[in-house]
Amino acid sequence: MLDYDLHSHSAVSDGTLTPAELVGHAAERGVKTLALTDHDDMDGLPEARAAAASHGIRFINGVEISVTWRNNITVHVVGLNVDPRHGPLAEGVASVRRGRGERARKMAESLAAAGIGGALEGAYRHARNPELIGRTHFARFLVESGRCRDVASVFKNFLIKGKPGYVAHDWAALSDAVGWINGSGGVAVLAHPGRYTVGRKPLGKPTMRELLREFIDLGGRAIEVVSGSHTSQQCADAARYAAEFGLLASCGSDYHGPGESYRDLGQLPDFPLDCRPVWEAWEGVGGTPGAQDVGKG
Ligand code: AMP
Ligand code: MN
Ligand code: MN
Ligand code: MN
Repeated sequence: MLDYDLHSHSAVSDGTLTPAELVGHAAERGVKTLALTDHDDMDGLPEARAAAASHGIRFINGVEISVTWRNNITVHVVGLNVDPRHGPLAEGVASVRRGRGERARKMAESLAAAGIGGALEGAYRHARNPELIGRTHFARFLVESGRCRDVASVFKNFLIKGKPGYVAHDWAALSDAVGWINGSGGVAVLAHPGRYTVGRKPLGKPTMRELLREFIDLGGRAIEVVSGSHTSQQCADAARYAAEFGLLASCGSDYHGPGESYRDLGQLPDFPLDCRPVWEAWEGVGGTPGAQDVGKG
């Protein structure tokens, strides 16, 4: 099992634990190197870093940037070992956050049109950071109000294209997200490639290859091979893309909190053979623990 977990969320975005609680849970579960990768926000990093130091585990500054590719395809780019004080990165994710309030109002209108009132207030009650209001907070409201059994089932009947609560949105450009991450000294990782859709259909292989080619041409260097949200088939597919395109391989649970996650922290299966782990980018080949991230931001 891997003791690196390089994709996780706190209540700074749409997780349920505080950054310190998240780190405590990771340490308890045997994670030795953790990255906090909140959506479009890096405010949790100092608290998480301090908690990691007190638990004796290594911490990597991270972020997960929401991107719109080719007008209508949402993809997520994780930045690892970023410097949150880098101006273009900090301002870039702030600009991505600014669209969320208006989007939330439209989502609530769409739910109201389907007979579900009170969604805006209901969603904000679940958002500890109101700037990051998003679909997960609406999903928690829909569960709380008895419309769905759990958050995962919300995403079958609501908040996705063609269903109540869905609102198309323009996130960052792929070139900007990769540029901000690289500019800050980080590594850009294409998150959970198995999860992308166009409309409600999975992205086909030719389109995935075009995405990867463009991502690499812009400076992207890694792909999430092991993800809590991947099936073993999707993991194998991602490993093949990594080999085909010469990408480093990343791993992360995409943990959002107890009872709401695909997989618990510290439960990630090993990489398929031949993967080169993304931490080579900051530890060097073979790994010199603590090499570059210590003391950063
Ligand atoms: P947003 O950035 O507001 O569009 O929200 C995206 C978030 O919704 C993701 O980061 C997940 O936390 C959550 N989400 C999306 N699809 C699913 C799903 N099928 N099951 C559980 N959570 C999901
Ligand atoms: Mn999320
Ligand atoms: Mn994601
Ligand atoms: Mn995530």
